[in-house]
Amino acid sequence: MIATHNPGKLAEMRELLAPHGVEAVAAGELGLGEPDENGKTFSKIKALAAAKSAQLPAFADDSGLVVDALGGAPGILSARWAGPNKDFMVAMTRIERLLRERGATTPSQRSAHFVAALCVAWPDNHLEEVEARVDGTLVWPPCGTAGFGYDPMFMPDGYARTFGEMTSIEKHGLPPLGLGLSHRARAFVKLAEICLDEH
Ligand code: IMP
Repeated sequence: MIATHNPGKLAEMRELLAPHGVEAVAAGELGLGEPDENGKTFSKIKALAAAKSAQLPAFADDSGLVVDALGGAPGILSARWAGPNKDFMVAMTRIERLLRERGATTPSQRSAHFVAALCVAWPDNHLEEVEARVDGTLVWPPCGTAGFGYDPMFMPDGYARTFGEMTSIEKHGLPPLGLGLSHRARAFVKLAEICLDEH
């Protein structure tokens, strides 16, 4: 089961699990409530709680956008910056305003990375945890309508398009179809090596 109520993350995790023959059910589909988003709901706690209540192996992730010129913000508050309406145009506009206030106009001053900590827990308390990141630059205005969250503002290093302009295969598809570009895809590869393949 996937311990998230974020539809964007859910879709990505489902696509990542499918080639492994793993059918995923979402927390919401099992009627499990959304944990308080207090910035401290670590994936480990979410996965363990979900595994126990669903009696299924449970995936959870903590992810966010880390902007160097903003001292690492929004970081663990990435979801919260979008406000109660989960409006990421609001969050991206806030980042852009803060970057301009700091005079961050060149690409090197606008470096950022997405980070994902991915955790899988079993009902017997066994736990595996991995972390990965993707480096890039923040652009303005936001470009593209694909993806979710801060994707339209994030251009991964080595590419001239934002995550918002990439297909899901490009953003988080795994070889041979994709490049395993995103933080979540990279973390997933590590996790799959530990606990999915050959089992
Ligand atoms: P949380 O892990 O549930 O606290 O949420 C992290 C937040 O980071 C999400 O709501 C998104 O705003 C942002 N985020 C995480 N991964 C991505 C991504 O792949 N693209 C765009 N935004 C992301």
